[in-house]
Amino acid sequence: MPDPRDPAAVRVALQVEAVRLRTEIGEPIEGPGQMTYGSQAAAATHVFEQQRDLALRDRERAQLRQVEEALERLDAGTYGTCRSCGQQIAPERLAAIPWAAACIDCARAAR
Ligand SMILES: [Zn+2]
Repeated sequence: MPDPRDPAAVRVALQVEAVRLRTEIGEPIEGPGQMTYGSQAAAATHVFEQQRDLALRDRERAQLRQVEEALERLDAGTYGTCRSCGQQIAPERLAAIPWAAACIDCARAAR
């Protein structure tokens, strides 16, 4: 957990997270035809797992975007400021989610 008041620590944490996400996104998802199915059930399970992996991949891409945007905000000096209302984001929130772009109130309102 980086200290949100320490930009260097936040930057390292964000960069580590970005590398982790890029690595996971870069790994190929096994497609059909690359394995032989013992049964219809195994095939169905495989298709299910593949779809789950793809859904996970979408979430990871979205998160990677948030992490990259947080790094840009660090560079721009606007890190820790809510992009909706301009208020400071609570340090506890940034400690839990270093790439948070909105304060808790705006994040709740956006849902
Ligand atoms: Zn806000």
